Amino acid sequence: MIVEQPFQTIIEPFKIHSVEPIRVTTSEHRRAALRAVGYNLFGLRAEDVIIDLLTDSGTGAMSAEQWAGIQRGNEAYAGSPSYFRFLDAVQELFPFEHVLPVHQGRAAERVLFMAVGGKGLVVPNNTHFDTTRANVEYTGAEALDLPIAEGLQPSLRHPFKGNMDVAALASLLEERGADVPLVMVTITNNSGGGQPVSMENLRAVRAVCDRFNKPLFLDACRFAENAWLIKTREAGYEEMPVADIVREMASLAHGMTMSAKKDPLGNIGGWLALNDGTLAERCRNLEILTEGYPTYGGLAGRDLEAIAQGLSECVDEDYLRYRIRSIAYLGEALEAAGVPVVVPFGGHAVFLDARGLLAHIDPLAYPGQVLSCALYEEGGVRSCEIGTVMFGRDANGRERPAPMDLVRLAIPRRTYTQSHIDYVIEVVTRVAARATSLRGFEITSQPAQLRHFTARFAPLASNVAGGD
Ligand SMILES: *Cc1c(COP(=O)(O)O)cnc(C)c1O
Repeated sequence: MIVEQPFQTIIEPFKIHSVEPIRVTTSEHRRAALRAVGYNLFGLRAEDVIIDLLTDSGTGAMSAEQWAGIQRGNEAYAGSPSYFRFLDAVQELFPFEHVLPVHQGRAAERVLFMAVGGKGLVVPNNTHFDTTRANVEYTGAEALDLPIAEGLQPSLRHPFKGNMDVAALASLLEERGADVPLVMVTITNNSGGGQPVSMENLRAVRAVCDRFNKPLFLDACRFAENAWLIKTREAGYEEMPVADIVREMASLAHGMTMSAKKDPLGNIGGWLALNDGTLAERCRNLEILTEGYPTYGGLAGRDLEAIAQGLSECVDEDYLRYRIRSIAYLGEALEAAGVPVVVPFGGHAVFLDARGLLAHIDPLAYPGQVLSCALYEEGGVRSCEIGTVMFGRDANGRERPAPMDLVRLAIPRRTYTQSHIDYVIEVVTRVAARATSLRGFEITSQPAQLRHFTARFAPLASNVAGGD
């Protein structure tokens, strides 16, 4: 049940326990830093960043109880009590039979797709996250995104823009069923704008999976935010405790991959969980190869303790109310200032529509990268391009515009206060006011895969060069 609050102000439901200083830099310093890293914000030193919204992954503040868990960590190689506390906490929300801890989400993806991927296969997802896509493609399989059409229109309001296109999934399975090892749904849909997936959609996806006898896996990184958005947006869930909504989502799947650096409030960690014993056996053998013995999976016992505790804190409704409200606070202020943003606001981040704001810059001149660099130069705010730099190459390496050019302002959990966010609003608004003066970029060097992490850029002499 949502407890009605008599006050307008939704406070941070925690107070500060220890602090980290922020170094305030000058714009000259930041311009030099941008040149030195080839206009790729991943290359910056974190001390050169004032407000770091690059990612919400592993960047949250841990609670006093999580730090207490760190002290309790037991470092036995096999069968540590910390593992069993972790296992209980995971199965409390996700009652899958086999739970394999891993060092972070992509390791779960690697193990899973090494086991089920391969040339000629195709893996459908509402939208693959970048590491998921890379791990699918690395095995030679095709990573196919099947979001609903509404999910690709930044300014269109729809409560569940993260939903999968169920009809498209059914036709894929009809045509190429034999090539599909499993179906994946990402909750919330990170690359699609932090947008939630409804229970109704999950149920419909599961029905199609059943019809074609395919397992359904959740990429469940932001399950608690997704559950809160179901509770507040989907009819019939208003009164249901968030933990029960999570268990209902889990009951519709055969397995999951997870990054504990997201909703579980860990600084590291993740897991792969599933019911199929034969597949679990294969995954465990792959896990031992690169992650570690299956009761620690590349994590220290203390990390398992922090995750176990975080799992109980992230489904707390006061926390989720504050979390989702604080995202909307940022988004609503930017929308009111006329900055094009993805609406409605989802979990974990506000996404700026860079293609909309920088309509004079061709998608192949990377408007998202341009905007993210401008935010850094203006006020030391680090964000992340989610657009043509990240997704602008097909499996054969050919360049093409991504469906959207977004800039993600990801909000670390329990880390920044409202005045930090007010500062971000001011920085974005100032950049938006001089948007037409920004120039496109060209890539001067890039790796074969996952180029957004290491590619280098240079501003174009004029915007005409970036055209067609
Ligand atoms: C972060 C993330 C991953 C990968 O997890 P890591 O812990 O960064 O390896 C996978 N899927 C989604 C949706 C994510 O947000």
